[in-house]
Amino acid sequence: MGKNILKGKTALVTGGSRGIGKSIAIKLAEMGANIVLNYRSNVSAVEEVIDEIKSFGVEAVAIQGDVSNFKESENLVRETFEKFNSLDILVNNAGITADGLLIRMKEVDFDKVIQVNLKGAFNCIRHVAPIMVKQRKGKIINISSVVGITGNAGQANYAAAKAGIIGLTKSAAKELASRNINVNAVAPGFIETDMTKVLSDKVRQLALNNIPLKKFGKGKDIAEVVGFLASDSSEYITGQVINVDGGMVI
Ligand code: NAD
Repeated sequence: MGKNILKGKTALVTGGSRGIGKSIAIKLAEMGANIVLNYRSNVSAVEEVIDEIKSFGVEAVAIQGDVSNFKESENLVRETFEKFNSLDILVNNAGITADGLLIRMKEVDFDKVIQVNLKGAFNCIRHVAPIMVKQRKGKIINISSVVGITGNAGQANYAAAKAGIIGLTKSAAKELASRNINVNAVAPGFIETDMTKVLSDKVRQLALNNIPLKKFGKGKDIAEVVGFLASDSSEYITGQVINVDGGMVI
């Protein structure tokens, strides 16, 4: 997407200190948006990303906060709005995994994945939506996953949360459309980040066998689509789930 087409807009990206969130924040900055980068704990990593973002000539600040906490996400949104006096783009990217087979999965591992991946997105939308409704415009982009569509052995918690994101996206799209707010989801396939680095060679090879384009994705592949959804070029698209997966799910 072109440079400067988001000039003057404010984008909040959750979980942005590394991986896909970092790529998204950099892409939106390259397109001219001012950036609020939410992070949970890694201050030095987020500061490096902030420096990189500022090199595009936009303003950028990092705000610490756990999106799974209703109050902390409220503070995050309030501080974002106080800083820039607008909030045009929300990207719900923060996510975790706690994989394991269903019959052995601990209750705590189910709860925490739902709490961060699904409730975290709800929390941020819940606090951002009143601002966007008042502005009569906004773009909300939720990062789901192809496993939210297909399911995945060993990821019952994660797949349930990512499927939940899709229902959340479609419901929010219907509720907010009359206020000129677009709500869409992006469903990445296998993207090379810290989240997938921990997987064994066997699992990686199995995944590769199921990708028609025969390569893993990069953060920038997701960021390009998020950039499009954040721009006016996508103004007639809402409630959709866009797979970015090398053809993994066709
Ligand atoms: P990652 O682990 O590199 O990054 C996730 C980021 O979220 C980290 O910066 C982490 O600190 C942050 N985070 C976690 N819990 C948080 C919380 N409670 N509050 C605030 N921030 C929090 O992973 P990634 O691969 O970059 O994943 C980004 C998103 O893309 C996630 O939602 C993930 O589920 C999704 N996704 C990734 C892949 C993939 O193959 N990598 C595939 C499908 C979907």
